[in-house]
Amino acid sequence: MNILLLIIILALIIMLILIVRTDKSKKRQFVKEFYSLGTTMTLMVNGKKGEKALDEAMKKVMNIDDKMSVFKDYSEISKINKNAGGKLQIVSEDTYFVIKKAIEFCHLSQGTFDITIRPIVGLWGIGSDNARIPSQIEIDNKLKLINYKDVVLDENSNSVGLKYKNQEIDLGGIAKGYAADQVKNIFLNRGIKSALINLGGNVFAMGEKTNGDKWKIGIQNPLSPRGEFVGIISIINKSVVTSGNYERYFDVEGKRLQHIIDPRTGFPSESKIISATIISDLSIDGDGLSTGVYILGLDKALSLIKSLDGIEAIFITEDKKISVTAGMKDNFKLCNEEFILDKRSDLNEN
Ligand code: ADP
Ligand code: MG
Repeated sequence: MNILLLIIILALIIMLILIVRTDKSKKRQFVKEFYSLGTTMTLMVNGKKGEKALDEAMKKVMNIDDKMSVFKDYSEISKINKNAGGKLQIVSEDTYFVIKKAIEFCHLSQGTFDITIRPIVGLWGIGSDNARIPSQIEIDNKLKLINYKDVVLDENSNSVGLKYKNQEIDLGGIAKGYAADQVKNIFLNRGIKSALINLGGNVFAMGEKTNGDKWKIGIQNPLSPRGEFVGIISIINKSVVTSGNYERYFDVEGKRLQHIIDPRTGFPSESKIISATIISDLSIDGDGLSTGVYILGLDKALSLIKSLDGIEAIFITEDKKISVTAGMKDNFKLCNEEFILDKRSDLNEN
């Protein structure tokens, strides 16, 4: 009789422990959503150290925005822009690193990615309340100012400048990638093993999901409202960055004018690519490349990506064809039959 009682008590204790444990593990997922760098950011962390890591990560992203935003008068980028044509400006390690890295992508993309694009971006105002179609004269005048080769860097003093008055830097095409890498580093330093970093479509999937699965990342249908996917990829410890025509745009006379500007024409890109996704280890690489290849057009974009180690891509063109580079071909799962996988992606096989 006594033994039976003991067994019942023991069983109850074990049940209680199990309940408390599962309850705890449920609480070990932390999510933070906030607005920074012109977009909504969602950070999701698994593990009990998550809460503090999220606070530190959010502070870092806000700090990057403070340093690099063209919309903040006190940012380091505004300081460089205000002093264009004059003295170099001392900047933080963060800003120096991003500008230096960005210039590498300007070279790589044959100048289609150009961080001095700001005067033209400002003229069009796409994504702002002042969006409009500028005149050819206005565009021609501003085009003269666009040239990333006029960015002057001095490594010794950590300072940056622009050769000519009225030139302006815009890191909008690369800052989110850098921020995602910084968030990942903060998580790593805090011992986080599993997290999903989503900085307005700039995604970094860290570690595995809690059930050991890979993260499934949807590639947005660029022709549909948000939330519809054309396909899905499964990844671990990779960045997935998409430049798309649906991020910021304005529709006029049946034409969609989107926010990625071709520095060769001063007009929104007409390359026929409407979505360019880069899969890479570093998010700054993905962000820096996605904007440039979007403008380059499919053939040049495929050969550029092929020439780079450890970088994969998914391109969608306006004729609803999807081209996937060799390393992603078995991974990419098409989930919208209106789109077709283009055979030409075979071009990219080594
Ligand atoms: P998103 O901001 O939607 O993630 P991108 O990374 O492609 O997309 O960046 C687009 C932003 O980059 C624009 O909003 C603008 O600030 C800037 N930009 C536009 N055209 C260019 C260009 N040719 N080179 C560099 N930056 C650009
Ligand atoms: Mg980009």
